[in-house]
Amino acid sequence: MKVIIIGGVAGGASCAARLRRLDENAEIVMAERGPYVSYANCGLPYHVGGVIPDESELLVATADTFRHQFAIDARTRCEAVAIAPDRKTVDLKDLETGEVTTESYDKLVLSPGAPPIRPPLPGIDLPGIYSVRTVPDAREIRQWLEKGTPFLAGMNRYSGIQAVRPKTRAVVVGGGFIGLEMAENLAHRGFEVTLLEQGDQILGPLDQEMARVVEGYLEQHGVNVVLKDGAAEFRQSPPGALEVHAQSGAMHPADIVVLGIGVRPDTALAKQAGLEIGALGGIRTDEQMRTSEPDIFAVGDAVEVRDFVTGEWSLVALAGPANRQGRIAADVIAGRDSRFRGTQGTAIIGLFDGTAAWTGASEKTLKRIGDEDHEKIYIFPNSHAGYYPGAKPIAMKVLFRKSDGRLLGAQALGEDGVDKRISALAGLVQMGATVYDLEESELCYAPQFGSAKDPVNFAGMVAADVLRGDMPISHWHQIGEGFVLDVREPFELAVENVEGTINIPLGQLRDRLDELPRDRTIYVFCRSGQRSYYATRLLLQNGFEVKNMSGGVLSRTYASFFLRE
Ligand SMILES: Cc1cc2nc3c(=O)[nH]c(=O)nc-3n(C[C@H](O)[C@H](O)[C@H](O)COP(=O)(O)OP(=O)(O)OC[C@H]3O[C@@H](n4cnc5c(N)ncnc54)[C@H](O)[C@@H]3O)c2cc1C
Repeated sequence: MKVIIIGGVAGGASCAARLRRLDENAEIVMAERGPYVSYANCGLPYHVGGVIPDESELLVATADTFRHQFAIDARTRCEAVAIAPDRKTVDLKDLETGEVTTESYDKLVLSPGAPPIRPPLPGIDLPGIYSVRTVPDAREIRQWLEKGTPFLAGMNRYSGIQAVRPKTRAVVVGGGFIGLEMAENLAHRGFEVTLLEQGDQILGPLDQEMARVVEGYLEQHGVNVVLKDGAAEFRQSPPGALEVHAQSGAMHPADIVVLGIGVRPDTALAKQAGLEIGALGGIRTDEQMRTSEPDIFAVGDAVEVRDFVTGEWSLVALAGPANRQGRIAADVIAGRDSRFRGTQGTAIIGLFDGTAAWTGASEKTLKRIGDEDHEKIYIFPNSHAGYYPGAKPIAMKVLFRKSDGRLLGAQALGEDGVDKRISALAGLVQMGATVYDLEESELCYAPQFGSAKDPVNFAGMVAADVLRGDMPISHWHQIGEGFVLDVREPFELAVENVEGTINIPLGQLRDRLDELPRDRTIYVFCRSGQRSYYATRLLLQNGFEVKNMSGGVLSRTYASFFLRE
């Protein structure tokens, strides 16, 4: 059996290596257009920032490794230029010599990825404007940064030697992963960074109130975040320096511009071969990664797959799904019955000392698809036991189905322990777990790592309390004309008072029940929702109609987004 794999990075390389492990006799050709196979594109921003100083660290495996360890004919600088599905051939072009050879295949795997979007804006090809996808891209950026801006140089007054002004100003266009990682790394290198985002939030998969917190965090770390204003034009002024003219008319000077506007599935070959392309612009595949041509498979950023939670078609440009899909395609080619379960878009980003991560459906996605059978909670547990030094709060939003408690999605922000909570929740989402399963999950605990009630358990307990009717909840934007009871201590009001509310500290509540109305709903809150939960239980058992404000005062800033909605 002869298998040709097009694209030699995440999806392609994992497919090739897996196939060799399953079939020692297959003839495997892996064609990669670029100079490297199997490189760590996820590490590129950190190489630019100097965290990964040595470029060679990014090269996870070389073409030689594939040839010698796996007997895979790995060809770099080799581009697939045409596919003939009827004859089962691929035309491969040697980019060094220009020679094109036609190779036959029994099975073909496409893993061409998704190149960065470069909109045809005036001046977009000026020197100093970069996208980040490949090792050579990162190398060029580093060289540009290290070169200084010679054209701006003046003669030193005393020495007469021409001085080179260091580059200090960066504009990053686009507030997705790659844009934000580049913004952070440029800030690490001492740049003044402006982030231009055309949409009304950064990190599109997050719900907007959560993204607001990340935007604030970036601002605290010196990144100038500009929303609802995209780049309209780039100009050189003077040579070597750039001006980014935004749609609003604002001008942002820059010594370097990085484009992180998003990626688009590379479907050129697939279209030429007549493969089915989905409505989102990716190559349509079934759960075994087969395209509309049964002997052609496609994996990675170029494909459309089903969203595990919503069942909708989705495009997800992430390394985990690409690697798993490559492995599944290899399994199926080798005769195994493997299937891709769909993607949940589980993702994480580190920014300065903070982390944002998420999995599954967001609230805005559920609203967009018209799903009304869901509820959300906000909780703010500590990353580990509060008495052990270094505990940091985690802001968590958890979404679940009202009717049966199924976990639908989660988002978390914090400076410690965010990754493991979202990873645990991601596994649970994929297993179809309910909030009752979260309550019962047995997770590692010692005081430096977590709590006896881990944030994952805690999320389950709070959500299950809601579903069992033990703790009716509400959210700040839903209060309307209700009676709002604050059960915090008076000294806390000095820090943040909530206008129009009545304060009865929790410890006094039992003795002051006669001050509360019995003819309307009491919305009760504290700082995080914990004491107000105790108050809710107390009031419910005394016959009041009561709702706990999920997340308390801490979630109120988040709610300001919904209040504007
Ligand atoms: C800067 C950056 C940071 C990232 N960080 C993260 C992260 O932290 N976490 C995460 O999950 N994901 C991250 N990603 C995304 C992740 O790298 C991709 O999801 C993953 O690499 C996709 O794998 P793929 O095989 O589909 O495509 P790629 O890895 O892009 O590989 C496709 C390859 O196919 C080659 N090719 C295309 N057409 C042809 C042709 N006709 N002939 C021959 N070769 C061809 C291309 O040259 C390319 O090398 C990051 C991506 C970038 C660029």
